[in-house]
Amino acid sequence: MSKKALIVIDMVRDFIEPDGKLYIGPTAEKVTQAISREIEKARSCGWPVIYLCDTHSEDDREFKMFPPHCVIGTSGVEIVDELKPQPNDKIIPKRRYSGFFQTDLDLTLRELDVDEVVLVGVCTNICNLYTAADARMLNYEVTALKDCMSSFDEGAHEFALREMEQTLGVNVV
Ligand SMILES: [Zn+2]
Repeated sequence: MSKKALIVIDMVRDFIEPDGKLYIGPTAEKVTQAISREIEKARSCGWPVIYLCDTHSEDDREFKMFPPHCVIGTSGVEIVDELKPQPNDKIIPKRRYSGFFQTDLDLTLRELDVDEVVLVGVCTNICNLYTAADARMLNYEVTALKDCMSSFDEGAHEFALREMEQTLGVNVV
């Protein structure tokens, strides 16, 4: 039997709220509601819930490509109120697209004996795709819940789901 964890990616104010620094667009609301249901389900099944939160310093090199967002110490890095973590949940900051890149995620999953991750959040073709890729490289089973993901770019969203399924062996449902 595999042990699963729900991984909630970048559901923070700067991406999800209309006045956020890098608002994902009107799909944010629907995705937030869908994720809220998945978090409830995960809790009722006793799965760990792990939040990955984009967190940058003011001069992060990522801001050469994207407008500044999720800067440490601003409200933009906070998880949205609708998906508030509970005390037992893990919150893992990340500086890069992949939640595994130089973060505590892999060790945290190993300590919890997790071998399957269920991914939800934003955005599909950036942090979700690269987190899924690294999870697969590390031999985790990966499920992506497509109704719980969105992107600034609908075409890129579709491409990333296809890439996850066909190239990475992710279970896209
Ligand atoms: Zn970022």
